[in-house]
Amino acid sequence: MKERRSTFDFEALSRKYGFRIVEDACQAHGALWKMRPAGTFGDVGVFSFYPTKNMTTGEGGMVVSSDEELLEEVRTLRNQGQRGRYEYAALGYNFRMTSIAAAIGRVQLKKLTTFNEMRRRRAEIYRELLDDVDGIVLPKEVKGAHHVYHQFTVRVKGGLRERLIEHLKQHGVGYGVYYPRLLYDYQPLKRFAPPGDLPEARRASLEVLSLPVHPGVSEHDVRKIAEIIKSFMRERG
Ligand SMILES: *Cc1c(COP(=O)(O)O)cnc(C)c1O
Repeated sequence: MKERRSTFDFEALSRKYGFRIVEDACQAHGALWKMRPAGTFGDVGVFSFYPTKNMTTGEGGMVVSSDEELLEEVRTLRNQGQRGRYEYAALGYNFRMTSIAAAIGRVQLKKLTTFNEMRRRRAEIYRELLDDVDGIVLPKEVKGAHHVYHQFTVRVKGGLRERLIEHLKQHGVGYGVYYPRLLYDYQPLKRFAPPGDLPEARRASLEVLSLPVHPGVSEHDVRKIAEIIKSFMRERG
C-alpha cells in the first residue's frame, strides 16, 4: 500500500507558502488523528450541526480557532458587522445562533461520545459481516485514526451499485450516495473542470454507497442489512 501523506504536510506547506488552512470538520465531531481532535488541524476549523450530523442543533454550525484575532473577525461578521452595539466595523451578516438551537446543542454535546460509540459499533458489525464479500470494499480505519462514521461508505465493484440499490429499496433499507457527481459536473463550477476527467474520482462517484450507521438504526437491523447485501452479492442479483 502506498504511504499516506500525513496531515502535517499541509501545515508545513501552509508555513512555506503562507496560506491559511480552513479545516472542514463538518462530519467529524469527536474524530481523532493521533489523539488530536478533528477541527484543530487548520488555522480555523468548521463544524456543521445539520440534523444528519453526528450532533445537531437543528441547523447551524461552529467555527473554532486558537487565533483570537480571527475569531473576533468571525464574531463581527456573524453579528451584522458589529464589534460592539451599533459599532459597525465591517459589512456583516446575521449568522447568529439562536439560544434555542444552542440549548439543543448543549444536550446533544453530552450525548456525542455515546452517539459516536454507537456509530463505531455499527461500523464494526458491518466490517465483521461484509469482510469476505466479493465486490464490496469496506472503509479502512488506518492506524492512529479514530473514525466517528458520519457515514459508512463502501465501494461496490463490478458496476453493481445501481442493482444493489434497487435490492435495498425492495427490502426497505435506506442508503445514500455521497456523492453522485464531481464538483465540476455542476454548472456553477464547470469552469474548474480539469482537462480530461479525474478517473479515480469519477470511479468513486460511481461505486460509493453509504449504509445506515446512525444511532437510530438498531444493531439487529445492521446485521439484517449486512445479510441482505451479502446474499445479493453472492447471487449477483
Ligand atoms: C454537512 C457538510 C457541510 C455543510 O454544512 P452546513 O451546516 O449544511 O452548512 C460542509 N462540509 C461537509 C463535509 C459536510 O458534511
